[in-house]
Amino acid sequence: MLQVNNLNFGYTKTKVLNAIDFKVEAGKNLAIIGESGSGKSTLLKLIYGEYDLDEGQIFWKDQEILGPKYNLVVGYEFMKSVSQEFDLMPVTTVAENIGKFLSNFYPEEKKERTKELIEVVELEAFANTKVKLLSGGQKQRVAIARALAKQPEILLLDEPFSHIDNFQKQGLRRNVFNYLKAKNITCIVATHDRNDVLGFADEIIVLDTANIIAKDSPENLYKNPQLPLIASFFGEFNVLEPYGIVYAHQLHIVAKSDFKATVRSSYFNGSTWLIEVIYQSEVIFIQHTVALERGTIIYFSVQGK
Ligand code: ADP
Ligand code: MG
Repeated sequence: MLQVNNLNFGYTKTKVLNAIDFKVEAGKNLAIIGESGSGKSTLLKLIYGEYDLDEGQIFWKDQEILGPKYNLVVGYEFMKSVSQEFDLMPVTTVAENIGKFLSNFYPEEKKERTKELIEVVELEAFANTKVKLLSGGQKQRVAIARALAKQPEILLLDEPFSHIDNFQKQGLRRNVFNYLKAKNITCIVATHDRNDVLGFADEIIVLDTANIIAKDSPENLYKNPQLPLIASFFGEFNVLEPYGIVYAHQLHIVAKSDFKATVRSSYFNGSTWLIEVIYQSEVIFIQHTVALERGTIIYFSVQGK
């Protein structure tokens, strides 16, 4: 189990993280979400032991994670991290980068393991390509595979799929997160992309202005977002009296209701349209099956609240 107790930290006098407390059971996937600058990357770096805490403690099992003041070499064997800046060896191949930390005593095993990891990140076609010739997304995948090479007990991922294009993202996410589950590797992932979280995270921590403002399962947070900041992570939403936070898909256009509005715009969303309407001088977003003409008078109702 990873345990973070009353963690306080600032790069300067300004607090970046305040009284952070949480636990992650072995093998679980924890997502840390929050706006840019909310401290996600800093929290991962502290868990990795890159900086000394101002206050508090971090434990993995019985081992306290210590910063550079107490630890000559940053990091621990049982923990790997893929940060936003991945430092690979540019003039060696994908396979060599991934196998770099594997023992040469067992060449067959090394080969097998490298192959397995190349498959997880779907880089079979590039195994013998020099890393400097890869795209940003491909490099990111090499960094993930390399972090997994020596079977860490815990893996820290910072915006792990940010450079990877949408054509490949979904499949790759499933591969990586399924692999971690299968190997019982504890994972902490910092992200602002809901697709990295929904369907994969066991628990979510929401960071805002140095504090944890929510901590729950993805399903509970999604169904009952206590704050607009949380709802905004999951999708288009409205604050509508007397219901509070309602997602665009919870509003339905009906023949007649107490909610009368005027259409302003329609946005194509793929499987649905997002209709922007004006209701009592406020902008409201409604998910709908077709586009509606500007100026159309509609009525809407709330479902699932
Ligand atoms: P996030 O990953 O959520 O975007 P960060 O952890 O990168 O947030 O940053 C949190 C805060 O700490 C921000 O205000 C940022 O400007 C500041 N910060 C990040 N890295 C440093 C640093 N090396 N030195 C000083 N301030 C930093
Ligand atoms: Mg960050």
